[in-house]
Amino acid sequence: MTDSQLIAFIDALPKAEHHLHLDGSPNWHTMHATDPDRFPEPPPSWDADFRFVNFEAFEGYIRAYAVPWLTSAERFAHTAHEVLETRAKENVRYAEVSFAALAVERSGIDIQETAKAIQDAFPANMETRLYIGMHHKAFETDHDGYLHQILDCDEINGIDLHGPEEFPLRPWIKQFWADAKNAGKLIKAHASELTGPTGVREAIEDLGVTKIQHGVQAALDPAVVKFAADANASFDVCPVSNVKLKAVPSMEEHPIMKLEAAGVTCTINSDDPLIFGNDLRDDYKIVADVLGATPAQLAQFAKNSFTTADWDQENIEAACKDIEAVLSEHTAD
Ligand SMILES: [Zn+2]
Repeated sequence: MTDSQLIAFIDALPKAEHHLHLDGSPNWHTMHATDPDRFPEPPPSWDADFRFVNFEAFEGYIRAYAVPWLTSAERFAHTAHEVLETRAKENVRYAEVSFAALAVERSGIDIQETAKAIQDAFPANMETRLYIGMHHKAFETDHDGYLHQILDCDEINGIDLHGPEEFPLRPWIKQFWADAKNAGKLIKAHASELTGPTGVREAIEDLGVTKIQHGVQAALDPAVVKFAADANASFDVCPVSNVKLKAVPSMEEHPIMKLEAAGVTCTINSDDPLIFGNDLRDDYKIVADVLGATPAQLAQFAKNSFTTADWDQENIEAACKDIEAVLSEHTAD
């Protein structure tokens, strides 16, 4: 396949996006057009060779670019609409997005109002789930009040654990993930992105989570990989982000192919497109370009993104069938 054939193939594949932070997704062109003085140039982190020194440096970018922009429920809603319209053009049929509890708390906007505005802004032709992402340190004020609000909010479909990783997990997290599960919420957690293999084991054992965000450093311990595979865990991996945040030493050493081969179901996702300058296509393409994934292997990652979706079986099967058809069509002589 030539480069342009590969791009056409990736674009044609039906896909699902499982790992997308609204706090890292405002549309740069909209920001620049609205406030060119404040946002004159795209973030330097768009450069392919850019590497963040550490996670704090990444958070500094979120504070510099996203926080001053996401000042209202409307801005969150508009962000969700724009990024998912972009994903729809990339043939994404199902998407899970999150918004950060800390950002909402700090900007003083209402969680329920924000969740409702985001839900209302989701494209009608896409199946969507809205998560709220919580830091290990949780809320700075009225912690219990916020947790009740989240459980009571019908517009919030699930909870995610993110921000700087801290293991062992704090007691409130274990309790809240159990409460959320009982309340019918979906649960996921970031783990083993930057702090070694332990996080994945803890997320599975202590939170009952099988939907891991990143999980790439689990590959450093074959016993944790086996544990995750035996638990039927899926890892929602973001290759471009993993390289720029140095979750992996280099793309050449990215473990996604090995994890998949070891029985961990992996999906390919984009994480924070405002900061990394990526579309979902870029994340699929780098797996083919650098790791040598074949079209059939990319198709398998696309299928995984549907088989791990919180969606009805009929739509999942239809998407997988369409993926097979795209694969045949693009690999026929
Ligand atoms: Zn993430």
